[in-house]
Amino acid sequence: MARTQIAAAREGTITDEMQRVADRENRDPEYVRQQVADGQAVIPANRNHDALDPMIIGREFATKVNANIGNSEESSDLETELEKLHTAVHYGADTVMDLGTGANLDEIRETHVEHSPVPIGTVPLYEAVKRAGSPEAITTDLLLEVIEKQAQQGVDYMTIHAGILAEHLPLTDGRKTGIVSRGGSIMAKWMEEHGEQNPLFQLYDEICEVFAEHDVTFSLGDSLRPGSLADACDEAQYAELDTLGELTRRAWEHDVQVMVEGPGHVPMHEVAENVERQQEVCDGAPFYVLGPLVTDVAPGYDHITSAIGAAMAAQAGAAMLCYVTPKEHLGLPDEEDVRDGLAAYRIAAHAGDVGNERPGARDWDDAVSEARYEFDWREQFRLALDPDRAREYHDQTLPEDNYKEARFCSMCGVEFCSMRIDQDARDGADGEMAELESSAGTDLESSPAAEVNVPPVGTHESDELPPIEDCEGVPSETDVEPGVESESGTASDD
Ligand code: SF4
Repeated sequence: MARTQIAAAREGTITDEMQRVADRENRDPEYVRQQVADGQAVIPANRNHDALDPMIIGREFATKVNANIGNSEESSDLETELEKLHTAVHYGADTVMDLGTGANLDEIRETHVEHSPVPIGTVPLYEAVKRAGSPEAITTDLLLEVIEKQAQQGVDYMTIHAGILAEHLPLTDGRKTGIVSRGGSIMAKWMEEHGEQNPLFQLYDEICEVFAEHDVTFSLGDSLRPGSLADACDEAQYAELDTLGELTRRAWEHDVQVMVEGPGHVPMHEVAENVERQQEVCDGAPFYVLGPLVTDVAPGYDHITSAIGAAMAAQAGAAMLCYVTPKEHLGLPDEEDVRDGLAAYRIAAHAGDVGNERPGARDWDDAVSEARYEFDWREQFRLALDPDRAREYHDQTLPEDNYKEARFCSMCGVEFCSMRIDQDARDGADGEMAELESSAGTDLESSPAAEVNVPPVGTHESDELPPIEDCEGVPSETDVEPGVESESGTASDD
């Protein structure tokens, strides 16, 4: 049997995947190997995922962002699902979880793996429920069969809800929002109906053997994560976390890579505590957090409420952030929601990296700032986290080409452009309008720009995305300048 990444690392081997992530992150390959060997980082890379461009998840590396996609009973065609994958990768997802619960699950999953340059994650429990017809009809044989099949299909990591135990269930009785994890509620229902222990916990060693064979990484599900601020950091959440720590060590005994999932809904003053506790209980295994949302009052804006918590978690040591879209708690996200959610989370991840002084992280900020101060609009757009949106907002009021060299924008207007005034003062220029007009190639007489003095706002339609096969791997590789952080870039503006 071929070795897993962690087995190879423990034997002192630097695999091709380790070398690749070292190149991508500008790190020493030996350091990557050591981090994987120690379980402090994972490289989710199923041996059957040929299209994968390997990446690494760990607190000492650039913070990563996951996007969830997947069909439902209402929408299930293959082309739409492939488009969703493409959209997620296009806007900078470092991994994608296929959480489909509709029809054609096998075909869609295989197509995702076949086309995806980023690791694909799944929750096999969903397929098991669909095939069984109800949570209580699931059998251990079915669970193992589904897990084994998905591993053979090339899924890189799987959420396994093995940490919720029968003895944890009474701890949720006083909660305001009960059990909000889908997998958690399914397992709780099964245990209540059968009066037995969690079957995923009982099968855990067999699951480890399947994962070791295909090099699938565990994403240990936090079935008892809080679904509201009122339930954050309660006894149920932390009791399950203790079990997740034990499961982490058991997986390592099987030479299987592990990351651990986390909350959820957590007030700001308890975010760091959550990360620190997980790191301690799970011996530094990478923490993969959903948000957390730091307030419950803003449905429709939960990409923002959660990105605040995600940035704090990233700075405290979370390794990967699972995005939340504006539709959270309200409905199925569309393409614009995916775009907004990913932008919010890539900001959170990058802010965490800057705050943690990750090597090279600030270079990106400095490059954008330099382009901004030089009025190099094209370069500013190119380097922007979402180039298309930056350019579109600029062009709403100043669409003509000559404004791409103008020494102002419509936000302050030409007369009050502080950067232009500052530069003129430093250059000893007198700042005469005629000179400005001539240097910018701008027709101020006929342009509305001089009178517009508000930030441009409004909606937009994104450009049509090229087919996924035209994308050259992870977009960041090709679109961000050398020397500028590249772990989570997005498509070019051209
Ligand atoms: S007009 Fe204001 S926002 Fe625009 S470039 Fe000048 S200082 Fe910046």
